[in-house]
Amino acid sequence: MTAAFDTIVAPATPSGEGGVGIVRLSGPAAEPLLRRFFQPTRKTLSLDSHRLYHGRIYHQDHLLDEVMVVLMRAPRTYTREDVAEVHCHGGSLVVRRLLDLFIESGARLARPGEFTLRAFLNGRIDLTEAEAVIDLIRARSDTAADIAARQMEGQLSRKLYNFREQIADLLALVEAFVDFPEEEVGSLEQERLLRGGEKIVQEMDGLIATFEAGRVLRDGLGVLLLGRPNVGKSSLLNALLGEARAIVTEIPGTTRDTVEESLILNGLPLRLIDAAGVREPGDPVEAEGVKRAMAKVASADLVLLVVDGSKPQGEEDRLVLAAAAGAKSLLVANKSDLAQVPLANDFISLPVVRVSARTGEGLEELKSLIAAPFLRGKSGDVADTIMLSDRRHREALVRARDSLEKFLAGLQELVSAEFLALELREGLDALGEITGETAPGQILERIFSRFCIGK
Ligand code: GDP
Repeated sequence: MTAAFDTIVAPATPSGEGGVGIVRLSGPAAEPLLRRFFQPTRKTLSLDSHRLYHGRIYHQDHLLDEVMVVLMRAPRTYTREDVAEVHCHGGSLVVRRLLDLFIESGARLARPGEFTLRAFLNGRIDLTEAEAVIDLIRARSDTAADIAARQMEGQLSRKLYNFREQIADLLALVEAFVDFPEEEVGSLEQERLLRGGEKIVQEMDGLIATFEAGRVLRDGLGVLLLGRPNVGKSSLLNALLGEARAIVTEIPGTTRDTVEESLILNGLPLRLIDAAGVREPGDPVEAEGVKRAMAKVASADLVLLVVDGSKPQGEEDRLVLAAAAGAKSLLVANKSDLAQVPLANDFISLPVVRVSARTGEGLEELKSLIAAPFLRGKSGDVADTIMLSDRRHREALVRARDSLEKFLAGLQELVSAEFLALELREGLDALGEITGETAPGQILERIFSRFCIGK
């Protein structure tokens, strides 16, 4: 059943000049509004669904533009409502005038993501599929786009629905005992419930385990360059990027703010962050920089601890080492083109790579050291592994798994069937939050506000 909504309109193409501009309408008035202003070139009365027609848009005898239009009747449309699109000449004014025309005639300007929201509310797609649409639009690497495209096609949803079915089966079994409280859960049923529950937990754990890689492939690996001033962090950042972005200077401590750059390394998206130099807080600006750097260590996936390989490590370098304590780190001894000195004892426990930002020596080794743990055995698999890449999905799936574990524990302790049923229902609810059936309104709002207008 399609819920009754008003008719919305929005530009479907970005603003600015372009070959075509598309204005999209969805809702019960899409067809009447199109018919009211569109005059087809060939005298035809019928507008067949999903066909392109050439003609003109007039506002009271005033020609607005020569256009192509397509009417798509429900339910085989993006929103499952009647959808009309007017393909006009690209240009902000033309699009603006068409929008005004439709809005003056009763349509309402769509909110960001409202077309996709309707597709969700009308049951054409579930929430993970809707979220995949925005992920695909935003994807910055091929792997991220692949994950999103597969999620959009419902691969993740199918897996989740499968979990749901398995839990529903267990619930049906348990509920039989809720109805007959005098009966005890027999050992035969208990065995079946245990095996069923354990299987689901195992499968859920497998999916949860894909999150780290999935997140990195989608959002990029956060790599923090950390080191005292003048060891060559900016130079290294530039060498990795292959072009000069951060400003390289001879004066120590000038990288006062952090610079963030994105690049793709063997299909793995990276976010390279050059934090301010860490040193004894001299002036207030530096102190702020150090604080920010420490905070960034906590949020980075990997720290590149940069030292000058041509000089012995000093107090400032030890400050940096201390700041990175506990984080996953690689020691990068830069300036390998100069005469090298041995690394201090407290530094050699880290994996070391010697590089020269100036000559490019060792950069390939550094690159593969960064990417290897995430690409090992995965670059091939990515095409067919179902991956969890969204924090929201992971969080809800962990809750579903926890409910099942409580169910299993309760089963061992022979607690009441009501309690067992309750845990299973909570598991179902948590799964429903991911696919959208039980997602609260504010979650929907947050998700769809990330979309652009017209999508
Ligand atoms: P940061 O303060 O750590 O960001 O260091 P910079 O990137 O600004 O570099 C500091 C100085 O070291 C500059 O004069 C660079 O030209 C020099 N430098 C950086 N990398 C290398 C390198 O690999 N070899 C040599 N010889 N000098 C380098």
